[in-house]
Formats: sequence, C-alpha cells, structure tokens
Amino acid sequence: MEEQEAIVDLLEEVLGNYGLHYSNKGQISFNCPICDEERNKYNLEVNYFECVYKCWSCGDSEGTHGKLGKLFDKFGNKKLKKLYNILKPEESQKIIKNKKQKVKIPEHFTLFRNSNPIYPVRKQAFNYLKSRGINEDIIEKFGIGFCDKGSHIGRIIIPSYNKKGELNYYVGRSWDPRSRAKYRNPEAEKEKIIFWENLIDWNKDIYLVEGAFDGMFLDNPVVMLGKHMSELLFETIYNKAKGNVIICLDGDAWESALKLYHELNGGELWGRVKIVKLPKNKDVCDLKGQIENFYVKILD
Ligand SMILES: [Zn+2]
Repeated sequence: MEEQEAIVDLLEEVLGNYGLHYSNKGQISFNCPICDEERNKYNLEVNYFECVYKCWSCGDSEGTHGKLGKLFDKFGNKKLKKLYNILKPEESQKIIKNKKQKVKIPEHFTLFRNSNPIYPVRKQAFNYLKSRGINEDIIEKFGIGFCDKGSHIGRIIIPSYNKKGELNYYVGRSWDPRSRAKYRNPEAEKEKIIFWENLIDWNKDIYLVEGAFDGMFLDNPVVMLGKHMSELLFETIYNKAKGNVIICLDGDAWESALKLYHELNGGELWGRVKIVKLPKNKDVCDLKGQIENFYVKILD
C-alpha cells in the first residue's frame, strides 16, 4: 500500500497531522484550515479511496468540500498537486472495486529470457538485480520479469502463484532510486494469499522472511510480505509445516520476530521453531542468504 502511505504523507504536508485514520476505508480526518482555529476538532474528513473531502463544520457555508484535487488547489501548492495527480489515478480509486477481481500480471510484463540482452531497459533491470546479488538462476527459478511500459514501467515484477498454479500476487519493485513508491503491488489483500505457495514444500524446513527479495536467497522460503503474519499463513504453517520453522525477519524487526517466535512455538510446532537475529540494518537479501552465524537460542 505504498500509494496509500504516500497520499497520507501528502495530505499531512497540506493539512498538518491527522486525527483518525481508517486505512481499510481510506478515511482520515484533519483540522480544517478554514474553521478549526487551533481547536483541534479534526472536522475535515478526507476519503482518499473516493478522492473527496468535506469539513463537517464549515463545508456547506464555506464550500470546504469536493474533489480531493480541489483541496490541493486551495490549500496546497502546485508541486503537491502534481504529486497528488501522479499518486491518485487508478490505484486509489480502484482499491475497493478491484478487491474481488483476480490478480493480473501488469501489462507489458516481460520475462528476462524473452528480451534481448542488449535492450537498454532490460539491462537497467538486470543490473539492478545483479547489484542485489540476484543471478540468472534465481531469475529463472522465480519467473522474474520487468515492465518497460505501462502502469508498472521501471519495475521488476516478481510473480507469485497459488498451489493450482494461478497468479495470486506479485511484487513490483522500482529499480529507479528516485521513484517515489519503491513498491507497487496489487491491491488484492495480501492477507488472503500465500506468496509463492506453489513452490513451498511443507515437508521440509521453511524460512520465514519479510520480502520476496529475502526469500530468493533461501531454500524453501515463506514470504510474509511484511513484518506481520496473516491469520491464513499462521494457520497454514501450523497445520502443514512438518519440518523446522526458521524465523528470519530483518535486523530492525527483532521485537516482531520474538513475538512471532512465541506465537508459533507451541502445540504441534513446539520445539521446531528457530530464530535468527540479523545485524540491525541488514536483511536476508543484504546477506545473500548467509544466515548460519545468526541463529540464537531463546530460553522459554
Ligand atoms: Zn471547516
């Protein structure tokens, strides 16, 4: 939900700190720049899914309501409006509408193997992967591609398939460091899918990681798509994992990792949950999967 966060950042730049935020509805409140006068009433409500705003206090009398673009015109500046227009389109408005639709691979998705190695865009994409230690074997194994046009232009695409072999998710990582949104992933709820499900062997040890880029370096990775584990994934691991479960979250997520350890280490899984503590600013991808030296023992 990178776009969502970016829109909230933009709104904060125009309106100051927000009051309440319901990210599942795209609803967020601010102090009204016209009528609040430092009373902290948070009367101005924005819905960034529907791209509208309204002040419940002075909306009707002062015309403080309408399309979100108008809010940026009135209270923001040209630069912020421009950023908003970049962030706004498809994504924010379609979040709700697309929820039940099947995930589709982004248009102009091209596998590396289907593109000429001297094509400059392919080269850029390939060099980015190379810089992160991802070689052709990994690219091949995970069916990684890139987009040279369209909504996901300038992004590496890492597809994910369910056990029936149907696309259930993808990660779209920008290779341009200037890109505002590092990731552009589908709006399908990641809580409802298991990433790379078709590749997971539940009879072997599994490695729990935060991101797809971490998972690429380990044998039999289970990607959580964040620091938080979905209920679906928790239950699936609980019911299916026959080997060890090794928690390999980013170095900066030790608290989350420990919490997860205690949640998992019980019942059927008791004694089979292991944990690694990576250096503070490192993740599995930075370490190219060399995590052997970082196992720690937790005294229950
Ligand atoms: Zn107002």
